[in-house]
This record gives sequence, C-alpha cells and structure tokens, in this order.
Amino acid sequence: MAERALRGMSIGAKSMESEENVDFAPRMIARYYCPNGHLTELPFATDADVPAVWECRCSEEALLQDAVKPEPEKPLKPVRTHWDMLLERRTREELQVLLDERLELLRSGQLRSRRSA
Ligand SMILES: [Zn+2]
Repeated sequence: MAERALRGMSIGAKSMESEENVDFAPRMIARYYCPNGHLTELPFATDADVPAVWECRCSEEALLQDAVKPEPEKPLKPVRTHWDMLLERRTREELQVLLDERLELLRSGQLRSRRSA
C-alpha cells in the first residue's frame, strides 16, 4: 500500500536524523569538568545563559571551565602578514623544528660555516 510505504519512509527519515546534523543558530561550546575528570562539551546558543554546573554522566557535578565563542566573522579583506604566509607553507610544528635546528647551530657556532640545502 502506498500509504503504508509513505508512513514507513517518514519514520525512517526521522530516525536517521541526529542532532549533530542539524545546523543550529550561532552557538558556542561550553566545557564542563567533573571531579572524576570527565569532560562534557555542550553547545549553547551564543546568547544563552550557560549554566555554571552540569550533571556529569557519572552523576557528579561538573563545573563550567570555559565557553568558547565561535570566531568572529573575518573582515572582507584580511591583511596577510608575512607570518600568515609562512604559516600557510609550514605548520607550527615544522617551524618549531626548523627553529630548533637553527638555534642548535647558532649555539654550537656552526651557523656561519654551514650552507643550508
Ligand atoms: Zn564524571
């Protein structure tokens, strides 16, 4: 029957939908830590009153640590600094390695005599 099929469809469609796939209004993530070290992250609307205490899954009281607001909208013409361009080419980890290598050479006095490849 067509009617039955339709009903089945609508139930199936609803059950497949989870909250994670719904696009909420602007929101922030509130983080709660309970005394047992559990982290609970909860999304709140940016204009919502975030409770200072939340009941953890272990039923302890988890305290609000911070509420992370989403990044403000970027300006239309962001100014790209040399630092920005550098970060586009290398990750911070890579830069740290390079810096460490250079510092090592500098401290050991090898920097001037060594040519980088
Ligand atoms: Zn807990």
